[in-house]
Amino acid sequence: METNLCKNPAKVGFPIPSKVSRTTKPETTLVNVSGVMVGGSDIVIIAGPCVVESQEQLFETARAVKAGGARILRGGAFKPRSSPYNFQGLGEEGLKLLSSVRKEIHLPVVTEVMDTRQVELVASYADMIQIGSRNMQNFPLLKEAGLCGKPVLLKRGMMSTIEEFLLAAEYILNQGNDQVILCERGIRTFETSTRNTLDLSAVPMLKRLSHLPVIVDPSHGTGLRWMVPAMAKAAVAAGADGLIIEVHYKPEEALCDGHQSLNLDEFTRMMTDLEKIAQAVGREISL
Ligand code: PEP
Ligand code: MN
Repeated sequence: METNLCKNPAKVGFPIPSKVSRTTKPETTLVNVSGVMVGGSDIVIIAGPCVVESQEQLFETARAVKAGGARILRGGAFKPRSSPYNFQGLGEEGLKLLSSVRKEIHLPVVTEVMDTRQVELVASYADMIQIGSRNMQNFPLLKEAGLCGKPVLLKRGMMSTIEEFLLAAEYILNQGNDQVILCERGIRTFETSTRNTLDLSAVPMLKRLSHLPVIVDPSHGTGLRWMVPAMAKAAVAAGADGLIIEVHYKPEEALCDGHQSLNLDEFTRMMTDLEKIAQAVGREISL
């Protein structure tokens, strides 16, 4: 019987699913997000608000993050919120705002999809679709994402192992879509001083086991605005191919995750520091 699994290059305790394995494909996959290449020597910064709130909020934030060196704009239109009474996002109106700001600012956009029934709609507006932590093992959604014709940003489940993460990515590749970026965003541990425990050891591990590019989300990984720049720098030093950072033009007024969102000045300062770290590890950030 064909197992479709590879011999294990890192001697970890599990077989590596074959399509995502570096044994199957030694060179790192370049993911093309409407012309922005992720997985090459350039470290790609994705930045923007947790959730799209208004034209002004998205436009002002997008303009500033682009000026600071971000290459892709983030912003949720369909939000997975723990409480059903919290703001759930603007839905299709949010997608329309993303698409109009993209035209004006010239930044590709990534936004989350939570449901198989939304994939076609979200993919029609976005340059890359995001599958969030809570849906990493939503297998029908992974399969649908594999068929949507757009790159996929797959976030690690907050209680998922590296093996489960790679198997989830394999579902997408199995549909013929190898344009997948893996994102470490923190896992749940006994620690409560940070929102999650950002598992930076996942970066070298994933890069060793898989040819897919790996990025890090220090915003959800820590939940603390003041800690984001330090962990962003650490992620670049650990070999991440990019970062996804929450930024808001007025974090104190944000409808979601303001406490972990950088303001515009903080983002600009962080980018200057990141450039030096990138150089130190033989990479570039085009500011
Ligand atoms: C997000 O990036 O908007 C998000 C909800 O993150 P996560 O799925 O990692 O919690
Ligand atoms: Mn958020």
